[in-house]
Amino acid sequence: MTENLHIAKWWHKNENHKIVCTLCPRYCEISEGQKGFCYVRENKDGILYSVGYGRPTGFAVDPIEKKPLFHFLPGSKILSFGTAGCNLGCKFCQNWHTSKAKIDETYSLQVNAQDVIDIAIKHNVKSIAFTYNDPTIFGEFVIDVSKLARKVGIKTVMVTAGYIDKEARKEIYENIDAANVDLKAFTDEFYFKYTYSHLNEILDTIIWLKNETNVWVELTTLLIPGLNDSQTEIEQMCDWIIENLGDTTPHHFTAFHPAFKLNDICRTPEKTLFKARDIAIKKGIKYVYCGNISDEESSITYCPGCGKSLIRRGWHSVYTNNIIEGKCKYCNIKIEGEF
Ligand code: SF4
Repeated sequence: MTENLHIAKWWHKNENHKIVCTLCPRYCEISEGQKGFCYVRENKDGILYSVGYGRPTGFAVDPIEKKPLFHFLPGSKILSFGTAGCNLGCKFCQNWHTSKAKIDETYSLQVNAQDVIDIAIKHNVKSIAFTYNDPTIFGEFVIDVSKLARKVGIKTVMVTAGYIDKEARKEIYENIDAANVDLKAFTDEFYFKYTYSHLNEILDTIIWLKNETNVWVELTTLLIPGLNDSQTEIEQMCDWIIENLGDTTPHHFTAFHPAFKLNDICRTPEKTLFKARDIAIKKGIKYVYCGNISDEESSITYCPGCGKSLIRRGWHSVYTNNIIEGKCKYCNIKIEGEF
């Protein structure tokens, strides 16, 4: 595409006159006329362009529980969008029709940052989610939208795999309020074989977000039968979480369904999710949920102080909310999150 090109941030030229994109740890070397692995960063006449800037594949107004975020503005609606492309190569991607498409292979709108804010205001949402594919790859647009959103009191949310360069993330998350980060497994073997990325960079992003920013963080692990659902792996993951993030980060274990290149693996049995939840609770994580299944019990937020049920949910809706000004209505202890 040649019209409306937006010059990218985070790149330089190397000694071979190729462009090195430094937005994510893949550090693609991009020759003239080529795009990076994510399909939305293009070398054109020696300049790197963010081809995904302002090119959502569409907009949706979702319940915020669908992201999933359970401790951030529960019961509210969130304007959601993503673009074509992705910087990961997940063989189980559930949005592969867009994440594996180039901009000109899928329907894409042409909008500017103010248009997104106008749509959010029109739909009276409290927040905007950069989601569906990994928003890291359209980081320039995330920055512009989140800056404007903050000015008008609308919150912004990243739904991401967390595969991002240390310098780029500082700018991209500067005006972000919350993130749901996929912790897709706890072995580098899984990360490399099934996502073409690496575990350590993801862990580094999660620690940075949790400990060095004000971004509210929740984690999601999609459990895939036989690939990342062993008791040992889940125990190691939970031990790492407790040691590095503390016990207050909500963790969502969600069900896989056959998709993209993993069509030969069955849907995750509910009992696998319940077992993972039990392990996490026994390890001391306070808020653990199961997702992509219809089970009310495993979606309840319980007070870690008095044990009473605080938020009852059903398939992305909130039935009751007994958190008042961020505290348990019954015993008055603080519940972590933004309510
Ligand atoms: S953002 Fe895209 S082009 Fe840049 S390094 Fe990552 S995959 Fe490559």
